[in-house]
Amino acid sequence: MNNPNCRGCEKESDQPIIKTFDGAVTHTCHPWMREDYYGITTGMYCDTCYNSNDSSLYPYRKDEYYDPLYAGERLEPEDW
Ligand SMILES: [Zn+2]
Repeated sequence: MNNPNCRGCEKESDQPIIKTFDGAVTHTCHPWMREDYYGITTGMYCDTCYNSNDSSLYPYRKDEYYDPLYAGERLEPEDW
């Protein structure tokens, strides 16, 4: 098996990682692939860990895309 394991609870995914190549960049795709607020990949976390709001299971800041309540609000402005 070549499926990833959740970095939080270590459960194995039932889906393999999919790699696509768009001519310039190889993209790694998986439903568990998470990114932080800045778009940096944080690793593989299952939905349970990702949505747990438990920092011991998912220690990174979530992308606000997944929380429409806060869409458009930036509580901590950053210089880009
Ligand atoms: Zn998990």
